[in-house]
Order: sequence, then structure tokens, then C-alpha cells
Amino acid sequence: MEKVKGELLYEGKAKKMYAVRGRPQEVWVEYKDSLTAFNAQKTGSFSGKGAINAQITALLYQRLKDNGIPTHIIENINDHEMICEKLRIIPLEVVTRNRLAGSTAKKLGKEEGTPLRAPLVEFYYKDDALGDPFISDDQAMLMGAVENRQDLEVLKTKALAINKVLRAEFEKAGLELVDFKLEFGRNDRGEIVLADEVSPDTCRLWDLKTGEKLDKDRFRRDLGRVEESYQEVLQRLKEKSK
Ligand code: ADP
Ligand code: UDP
Repeated sequence: MEKVKGELLYEGKAKKMYAVRGRPQEVWVEYKDSLTAFNAQKTGSFSGKGAINAQITALLYQRLKDNGIPTHIIENINDHEMICEKLRIIPLEVVTRNRLAGSTAKKLGKEEGTPLRAPLVEFYYKDDALGDPFISDDQAMLMGAVENRQDLEVLKTKALAINKVLRAEFEKAGLELVDFKLEFGRNDRGEIVLADEVSPDTCRLWDLKTGEKLDKDRFRRDLGRVEESYQEVLQRLKEKSK
């Protein structure tokens, strides 16, 4: 039977989450065209942005599935909507870095693009009112973000496994995956599953040859060609995955 979109459950900065009628374990995810940065202090949009991010996420999550890594996507509805497994989101942004850039480069006084001997995984506490601060493992436990320390290890292991697959996928498309943010949730069986999205909104992607930035930093830093860059990431991924 065809699935029917139910009531709006939540509207975020980049997506709207709807119920799926008669299917309480699922959510209908609609990607929006809006762009926000610096905890929504800077806003913008372009037509088709939601569709680009939804298609990039769908393509990459399929690759992860092919590599034995479960994700929340159940089915794609159209170019900007998908049905996902409804999860209890773990309130941690799991950031993996292959080079230092952005906040960590600044904090440690390192040049943007400083290479790392091994990927670095960091946790940020998901709370807009606090500005999503970096937290230590002990602080994550203190805040009850997860039930036990083993869960933090599972998140790190999963992030590193996902990094391997995504890095290879982007490399085929001539892009370097500099860093990215993941969100995970728990399903009814208690399993930790990859949620949310992976897109130029949530990754730093640099052209392998020229170093040109093809991600949300173009919007954050007013570098121009935002729409063209998002489009190019999708086109390159599509072409390389043929
Ligand atoms: P934000 O809430 O930061 O503005 P979005 O606009 O992307 O971000 O909103 C999507 C919301 O849905 C986020 O809070 C995210 O944690 C949550 N989410 C993502 N995937 C799932 C899922 N499978 N089940 C339940 N919630 C999810
Ligand atoms: N990121 C994200 N959502 C956030 C914060 C960060 O998707 O709320 C992504 C960001 O796009 C980058 C990576 O996580 O790819 C690391 O971001 P960083 O901590 O350097 O923060 P920024 O400098 O982007 O504020």
C-alpha cells in the first residue's frame, strides 16, 4: 500500500519531519531549500538545494549500506523526500576530521588544512541554546547523552568505518573529505543507526587538484558560487557511481 504523509512532527533548519500514516516507526523527511550557518545567525537559500542534499545523502547512504553499514533510509520518495526509520536521536554531533579545519584548527592554532596522522573523532553536544559545544567523553556521560561508555566507543568505531567508505567515494569524484558531522539514533531494537544526512551542508569537501572548497564554507565565508558548488558535488558523485 502506498505510504501517506502524516502530520508535521518537527521543522528544523534544513529539513521537515512528518509522520507516516499508520507507521509509527517511520518518518517522512522533506529536505528544505534553506541554508543556515553560525547557529542560524546567518540564513539564505536557493531553489533545489534540498533536492541536491537529499540526492547526495541517498547516494552515499546506499554506498554505506552496500558496505554493510546500516542507515535510517527505508525508501526514497522523490528528489527531495525520503522515508526513514524513526530513531531516538543521540544528542551528539559526531565530527570526524581527516585534516584540521574550521573550529578545531582555530582552537588549536593550526593552519586550516593541517594534515592528521590518523582521523580524529570528536563529540559536540547537540543543543542549539548552548551553541552545540565540544564535550569530552566524561561530559557526554554526565549529560546522559548515551547510556554507557561502550556506546561512545561504538559511535567512534562507526564514524571511522563510515569515514573510510565516504572518503573513497568522494575521492572517486575528485574530492577530498576534509571533515564531516554525523548523527546517530537508536531504533526499537536498541541498535545504533546512522541518521540525518551527509551533504555539502555537513562536510568540508575540497577539490583534490585545486583545493577549491565545494561545501557550505562557500556560504559561511561568502565565497560565492554556492549553488554551483553543491550542484557540482552531486554531478560528480552521480557520474563516478555509474
Ligand atoms: P536542526 O534540527 O539542527 O535544525 P534539521 O533541519 O536537519 O536540523 O532537522 C532534522 C532533525 O531531525 C534533527 O534534529 C535530527 O536530529 C532529526 N533526525 C534526523 N534523522 C532522524 C531520524 N531517523 N529519526 C528521528 N529524528 C531524526
Ligand atoms: N558541522 C555540521 N553541523 C554543525 C557543526 C559542524 O554539519 O552544527 C560540520 C561542518 O560542516 C564541518 C564539520 O562538521 O564539516 C566540522 O565543523 P567545525 O567543528 O569545524 O565547525 P565550523 O567551523 O564549521 O563551525
